[in-house]
Amino acid sequence: MIYFDRVSKVYAGDTAALQDVSFSVEAGEFISIVGHSGAGKTTLVKMLLAQEKPTSGAVFFESINIHEVPPKRINDLRRKIGTVFQDFRLLPGRTAYENIAFAMEAAGRSEEDIHSDVPHVLELVDLGNKMSNFPGELSGGEQQRVAIARAIVNQPDVVIADEPTGNLDPVNTFEVVQILKKINDLGTTIVLTTHNKGVIDSLKKRVITMDRGKVIRDDREGKYIL
Ligand code: ADP
Repeated sequence: MIYFDRVSKVYAGDTAALQDVSFSVEAGEFISIVGHSGAGKTTLVKMLLAQEKPTSGAVFFESINIHEVPPKRINDLRRKIGTVFQDFRLLPGRTAYENIAFAMEAAGRSEEDIHSDVPHVLELVDLGNKMSNFPGELSGGEQQRVAIARAIVNQPDVVIADEPTGNLDPVNTFEVVQILKKINDLGTTIVLTTHNKGVIDSLKKRVITMDRGKVIRDDREGKYIL
C-alpha cells in the first residue's frame, strides 16, 4: 500500500534528511517509526502527504507515484490519508461535533451522513458525551481523541499519527494508543511516529528505526532500541 523506493532528501543547505530509504507497508499493518530528533521522521511523513518531494527515489501510495499526481488531484489522494499531529490542530471556536462535521463537509459528504457518522465516530473514541464541548473544555487526551475521530470519519485507507502522544501524560497516552489499535483492528492501516519507548514496547507491532536519515532496523514485533 505504501512503498518508499530508495528515497533520498537533501534540503537546501545540504542536510541529507533521508538517505536511500526503502520499505513497504502492507494494507492493515500497524507500523511505528522511531528515531532521535533529526532522524528524518517528519520528512518521511511530509513525503507521504506530498508536502515535500524526494531529491531522488519515489514514494508510492496504492501503486501511484505520489509526486507525479497532478496538483488538482492531490486533495483526492490526501483524502485517503487521515492525519493526527502532536498539537491536535482542532478548530478552537467549534465543538467536538462541529470539528468533525467540518472535515466531512470539506470532503463533500451529505448532511445525512454527517448526522449519522459524527456521533458514531465520537462513540468510537469514547467521547459520545462530549460532543458539544469546545476544545478548550477538553483535556489533551480528549482533544487528541477528537482529532483521531476527525482523521477516520471519511474512512481513509491509512492514518498517519505523527507524535500523537507527544503532549500527553501516561494515562492519556495509553488511551490514545488503545484507540489507534482499535482502529487498526477495524482494518485501517496505521503509521505512527513516536519517541515513546513505553508505547513501542507495549504495542508489539512492527518498528522501523531511523538514524540520521537511514533505516537502521526494521523489526516485526519490535522493541524500542535507541
Ligand atoms: P525528525 O522528525 O526525525 O526529528 P526531520 O525530518 O524533521 O527529523 O529532520 C531531518 C533532518 O532534516 C534534520 O537534520 C533537520 O534539521 C533537517 N530538516 C528538516 N526540515 C528541513 C527544512 N525544511 N530545511 C532544511 N533542513 C531541514
